[in-house]
Amino acid sequence: MHQLRQTNWAEILPPSDFGLEPILEVHDQGYVEFLKTAFQLWTAGVVNYEHMALTPATFPPGGHRRVPQTILGKAGYYMMDLSAPIGAETFQTALWSAYCSLSGAEALVTGEKSAFALCRPPGHHAGKANCGGYCYLNNSAIASHRLSRKGKVAILDIDYHAGNGTQEIFYNRRDVLTVSLHADPALEYPYYSGYADETGEGEGKGFHLNIPLPFELDDAGYLVVLKTALSRINDFEPDFLVISLGMDIFMDDPLGKFKITSQGIRQIGRNIAELEIPTLIVMEGGYALESIGYNFITFLENFIDQS
Ligand SMILES: [Zn+2]
Repeated sequence: MHQLRQTNWAEILPPSDFGLEPILEVHDQGYVEFLKTAFQLWTAGVVNYEHMALTPATFPPGGHRRVPQTILGKAGYYMMDLSAPIGAETFQTALWSAYCSLSGAEALVTGEKSAFALCRPPGHHAGKANCGGYCYLNNSAIASHRLSRKGKVAILDIDYHAGNGTQEIFYNRRDVLTVSLHADPALEYPYYSGYADETGEGEGKGFHLNIPLPFELDDAGYLVVLKTALSRINDFEPDFLVISLGMDIFMDDPLGKFKITSQGIRQIGRNIAELEIPTLIVMEGGYALESIGYNFITFLENFIDQS
């Protein structure tokens, strides 16, 4: 945010309140109710709960998909892993992060050529009925679903990690094309989806593209596979493009293993901007905190409206 304020081109606006309706059009009602109430129910009767956060104690093994009645049972059901704990402010924070992406979507609908949603927490690991990987509500998916009422939407996920939540949410749909470039899930989080043979289901068959990539990928290698992704998106002829942008592709990121430089990030942004599709850029991961601001600005500068 600090770096955005220092530019002479960023118009910074607070998000608007959209209520629960656009959230419930993407996420399961029982899950949203769980996110909203879990902490309060879990800490009922506890006096000092300021530093507490709910994580699951159990996980359902494959095929066992009943919703238990207790909070700890529900935690195992709705939480994919231990990296999305629920604290006192979690639901409100996730909700306003989703409102941030919805506000960006509204900007495109009203004629802006591009918008950046500075979302925290991120969203692309959140599925219809699960949180995980620091994600609670799927900001990109919620914004994309909203945009899909106005036209065809393509989502390009270029976070270092596979966008498993986004994949699940649109897996049966052909009006929203989903494309994800990410580290090979056989070796990297989120492990259980993001494979090349997962291409959509039913009506959505052929409208999901995963491109798993090797560790040590450099700028030149990335730009080659990006070309494949952008060509698929171009063929789809979308009215709107949503970018799930994670800066954990950067070479110094402590969670990522790619070797992408800031110059590479600039070129990735340039190649995407050259599609000239109204574009919403949604912030996902990124953990090299000393360079994240610079890298986002470097990417976003390609989208400055020169007209
Ligand atoms: Zn990531």
